[in-house]
Amino acid sequence: MRHLAEGIHRFQRDVFPDKSGLFAQLATTHQPGTLFISCSDARVVPELITQADPGDLFVIRTAGNLIPAYAPGSDGVVAGIEYAVAVLGVQDVIVCGHSSCGAMTALAEGHDLTGAPAVADWLRHADVSRARIAADTADEEKVPALVRANVAAQLANLATHPSVARALAEGDVRLHGWVFDIPTGTVEEVDDAARQAPAA
Ligand code: ZN
Repeated sequence: MRHLAEGIHRFQRDVFPDKSGLFAQLATTHQPGTLFISCSDARVVPELITQADPGDLFVIRTAGNLIPAYAPGSDGVVAGIEYAVAVLGVQDVIVCGHSSCGAMTALAEGHDLTGAPAVADWLRHADVSRARIAADTADEEKVPALVRANVAAQLANLATHPSVARALAEGDVRLHGWVFDIPTGTVEEVDDAARQAPAA
């Protein structure tokens, strides 16, 4: 914890002065262009891997970057998506999975989750992701294959949200699927889900 407090001091001393103009502008405007949905994993840092500035990304993070298919009755994920798409009017939505994802590993390897019942329940939102994996997938390919399949499945779930469906129908938003590879720092586009390359 101590290093976080020291980090705040370093931020105020070394970083903030160069960005004070940006923060002054952001004090009264919030117009992010992108909704970035990633796993809660500490090794995935959306602003770092995209080199985005404060104000650029509206971020939702969940275990396994899972987005429950829409159902009446709001929760934090539904509200966040609706706010970003319908109120803030983001032009792009990215669902970003990552290598060595703990959630996907637990599913791919059939870990016992009886000690974490809420996690087990939550991971049911990846049932369709598991169903997309070929039964004869080699053991060492199971986790990376599930990570990719899960990004595609969660993009499909995303499109069931009325705010997203409406924006898609009107051509106001584009959906993208990415996978961040931790050891190389590279980003792979998920072919059957993304409509745009991650890099220009
Ligand atoms: Zn993860």
